[in-house]
Amino acid sequence: MASFHLVSLGCAKNLVDSELMLGSLLAADHRLVDTPAQADILIINTCGFIQPAVEEAIEEILALVAVKNEFPEKKIAVVGCLVQRYRDDLVAELPEVDLFVGTEGTAGFADLLAKMIRGENPGRLVLPERSLMDSTLPRVLTTPPFRAWLKITEGCDNHCSYCMIPSIRGPLRSRPVNDLLQEAVRLAAGGVKELSLIAQDSSAYGRDLAGADLPTLLQALLAETDIPWLRLLYLYPSGITPLLLELIAGNRRIVPYLDIPMQHVSDPVLAAMNRHYRRRELESLIAVSRQVLPDVALRTTFLVGFPGEDEEQFLAIEDFMRQHRLDHVGVFAYANEEGCAAQGLAGQVPAEEAIRRRDHLLNVQAELAAARQRQYLGRTLEVLVEGVSAETDLLLEGRSRYQAPDVDGCVYINDGTANPGDLVQVRITDSQVYDLVGEIVPDVGLAKEKNTARG
Ligand code: SF4
Repeated sequence: MASFHLVSLGCAKNLVDSELMLGSLLAADHRLVDTPAQADILIINTCGFIQPAVEEAIEEILALVAVKNEFPEKKIAVVGCLVQRYRDDLVAELPEVDLFVGTEGTAGFADLLAKMIRGENPGRLVLPERSLMDSTLPRVLTTPPFRAWLKITEGCDNHCSYCMIPSIRGPLRSRPVNDLLQEAVRLAAGGVKELSLIAQDSSAYGRDLAGADLPTLLQALLAETDIPWLRLLYLYPSGITPLLLELIAGNRRIVPYLDIPMQHVSDPVLAAMNRHYRRRELESLIAVSRQVLPDVALRTTFLVGFPGEDEEQFLAIEDFMRQHRLDHVGVFAYANEEGCAAQGLAGQVPAEEAIRRRDHLLNVQAELAAARQRQYLGRTLEVLVEGVSAETDLLLEGRSRYQAPDVDGCVYINDGTANPGDLVQVRITDSQVYDLVGEIVPDVGLAKEKNTARG
């Protein structure tokens, strides 16, 4: 038995991998400790799909190396995307690291660690075959008990020209519906109130399976669990079907929230990005979504400064944002990634210009979001309470059905009492740029509403 310290970097999908590592290590009777100084084994599950993530991962590894320099008996294991992407460079450049494990090694990590502890040499670099997690693997949640991620696929077949994910994570592999159901039922029994379905492209779910797609999966989750909120994240625009929208409209337990990374709105730029839709289709998707789901909250991300993007194409995004007034918008500045198809494209935009464009759009969105938030003033929203606010002990904090965890604003509650994990009714009394403020009011008809169709 060893003590270990685990650092998890990157997105929610990587966090699920970390939760599997945690599950396997605790099941093998290893002991989790709070600080690297207390641990025999220092583990870091890395992200590495863009340069800022690579830099963050290297910094964190070097921090662990500094601990090991002080206590040479400690062992360091580096796991995940960074290893999958830069395997040989890392092995050569970081001799202090005892074990490097690729993205497919998280579930079986405890076995590798056992070998290392026993002095058997699993090799410094372990890159297991492509695989897929399943519900039989022990998993320990790191999120609050009322909220969890459900990773429905691994990998991606889309090959957007700026993205390293397909080469790091491999091709699309969907988990069978029954396997996901078993995990979801267990999570529900553990008290999960909000289950967010995640993937590299959630709308691709089931393309590699017979007889399964996202609506089928959602129907099964609705029938076999009583989780009050099911949330869909990472929907590729052209993968959102009328059937999916109707299903959301007809089932209150699927929150009216669509996370649709659009990346751009200029047709030539979208083509160069190898994204398989055009502005006209995005506009029609927004119109149909709002028609079928009048209260839908729409989130997207844009990538600016892509090679060949001129001022007019960049400003087309601002025009689009002003015209369609999306609820939540993230903007990222393009940067070349070694090995990506876009790296060799003509018309590279200087980094400082890409950052200027990003900042401009973020300012535009701040203005639009503030106006958008005002629509909630005076309304009563269902809110999942997270606990005392990180800002001040005087407030509670939670999120409405229109706000996703981690990425969107929140609801501050300044009147009323509730426990973390409670679903309460909050009357909105104030709105800020991204956040709302309100007071708890009596629950009139919420219980009755829970399982009824929106109609
Ligand atoms: S859909 Fe997402 S994960 Fe897949 S290649 Fe495109 S950007 Fe990368």
